[in-house]
Amino acid sequence: MSLSGSTGRCSIQARWILRTPSEVLENHVLEIDEGLVTDIHQKPYSETIRLDDCCLVPSFVNAHAHLEFSDLARPFPFEGSFTGWIRELLEYRDRRRNSLADLVMGGLFELRHTGSAAVGEILTGNLNPADYRDHSDFPVSSVVFREIIGLLPESHEEQLHLAKQHLDRFRPHEDDDPFAEQATCTSGGLSPHAPYTVQMQLFEQLVSLAGNRKAPVAVHLAETEAELQLLSRQTGEFRDLLERRELWRKGLFAKNGSPLDYLQLLRNVSRALIIHGNYLNNNELNYIANHPNMTLIYCPRTHRSFGHYDHPWERLLQLGGQVAIGTDGRSSNPDLSMWNELRFLKEKSPRATDQQLLHMGTTAGARALQLPEFGSLKPGASASLNIIRRAESTQSLFAHENDLIGTMIRGQWIRSPV
Ligand SMILES: [Zn+2]
Repeated sequence: MSLSGSTGRCSIQARWILRTPSEVLENHVLEIDEGLVTDIHQKPYSETIRLDDCCLVPSFVNAHAHLEFSDLARPFPFEGSFTGWIRELLEYRDRRRNSLADLVMGGLFELRHTGSAAVGEILTGNLNPADYRDHSDFPVSSVVFREIIGLLPESHEEQLHLAKQHLDRFRPHEDDDPFAEQATCTSGGLSPHAPYTVQMQLFEQLVSLAGNRKAPVAVHLAETEAELQLLSRQTGEFRDLLERRELWRKGLFAKNGSPLDYLQLLRNVSRALIIHGNYLNNNELNYIANHPNMTLIYCPRTHRSFGHYDHPWERLLQLGGQVAIGTDGRSSNPDLSMWNELRFLKEKSPRATDQQLLHMGTTAGARALQLPEFGSLKPGASASLNIIRRAESTQSLFAHENDLIGTMIRGQWIRSPV
């Protein structure tokens, strides 16, 4: 059987197959047909591809990225001021020459070639589903969250209009037809950017619109201490930034506000992705844990590059909440590789089990993005998988001695292992 570009039937035996992140099968055979997993059994035949020292895992799901920064060779440096970093980012947006559609294409290419079959993408601008098709018959699935920014009341109507227009173009993933997304490989959501850029009243309207349309919502929340300072006391570097950009007005923020005010508004949407959450307190973590529609999205290398204190992801897991992993954009991370992200996290948190890491890098992201076809290799699931060659000596799948040697998306080899 030819391995390159195979789109038909395929049979692969591996030393380990992770049917789910917590269910390891030894020396089994995975059968694939028409882009789906059709069977798992123990009877190889002459055409079965044998991968003796390898582990088959579900494709990664990158729960948070900004593909518009995919042409950056390195992240913008962080020199102690978050608003200074934002200024650099805005200046880059003003001077870049590449079209947004080309930048998205570059990002999707990188995702596909680093083992991700799906992405939670934040779109700042206006694109169509066709711009995410990736010129491929087997593209990466994109859940495209339109970023909305609007502090001053006079901007709200236009922003709400943009949000509606986006959801008309990118149909949200319907619960009652979980595989409908496969036809277009795109679905839509909304991203009220962050508390310091979206006034509470507009935030409420956007969340209500998303709720009515069954669309997921992604919001950057509790990312910095400066954000908490703005919400609670209306002081600090965000106040300065807003004043400089002539966006500051009395009464824009309620007194003694906190991230919990925003979490409470998200309780009824189909899915809420809480991006970063670096400074969520125990009360807020409890609130997320008690709302199964909410997932905290942790971006480990971005978190490290801004020098934040320890991230609360382990506390949330202990409370029974959901955590998924994203790379964030190349504006704060050197690449969009989930494999690199998970290996970084293993090195940083050696106590984290392979099962936990793989769950956060696959199944939890698929759940948060309402993409049930990803995140497992059960019969009926998408034949989207990665092949990891595991060195004999390694204790963990994510050890640096191990290599990602193959990727299949929807039954098509992106990179074949032989
Ligand atoms: Zn982000």
